[in-house]
Amino acid sequence: MSESQHWPQVRSHDALDILASIHIIEQKFHLRKMPPNSAVVEERTVEHEEKKPEYKTQIVWFNVLLFIYLHLSFLYGVYLGLTSAFWKTSIFAYIYGNFGGLGITAGSHRLWSHRSYKAKWPLRAFLCILTSIAAQNDIYEWCRDHRVHHKFTETSADPHNIKRGFFFAHMGWLMCKKHPDVATKGKTVYLDDLWADPIVRFHRRFYIPMVLFFCFYLPT
Ligand SMILES: [Zn+2]
Ligand SMILES: [Zn+2]
Repeated sequence: MSESQHWPQVRSHDALDILASIHIIEQKFHLRKMPPNSAVVEERTVEHEEKKPEYKTQIVWFNVLLFIYLHLSFLYGVYLGLTSAFWKTSIFAYIYGNFGGLGITAGSHRLWSHRSYKAKWPLRAFLCILTSIAAQNDIYEWCRDHRVHHKFTETSADPHNIKRGFFFAHMGWLMCKKHPDVATKGKTVYLDDLWADPIVRFHRRFYIPMVLFFCFYLPT
């Protein structure tokens, strides 16, 4: 037998040996970790399910219809803006819409939720008006949801938990009832500074009329 014929045989034998010892180690490992009894494994899953009952998403159909209506109106507006509207109106609509975005990013997000900077009342009042153009809930509610999101990111207490999918985290959460954990764990989030701001309280009280005026009436 030549060397070249002999070697592969020895090598394959070695490989089998290694596989066998891996198998033995695996068996020992499993035996030590849990009894090789399927009934025990089943019990565990039942226990697990009892502790964490499946949460069923509850859709708020009014919000679904509202979102559909608002998005269709937006598309119709864009269509009119590009076809029949006076060009100054289209430019105005674009700029006005971006001011709404600024209200959310500079106001609700950076100023009120994260306190990234301080602002005197004239700027806060101006930002309050801009957030009304965006119509993404009143400042207090926006910040509450956002602070809860940061404290409990990617858990059931996160109002827009990404683990429930991209659509849910993007906009689906606004069309569903909130998970009970959002309210219970959310109670631990500090919000007193928001309630201490009279502009935030004013916005919470007059949110609907402010949105109707700044988001719908004023631009039309
Ligand atoms: Zn943030
Ligand atoms: Zn985030």
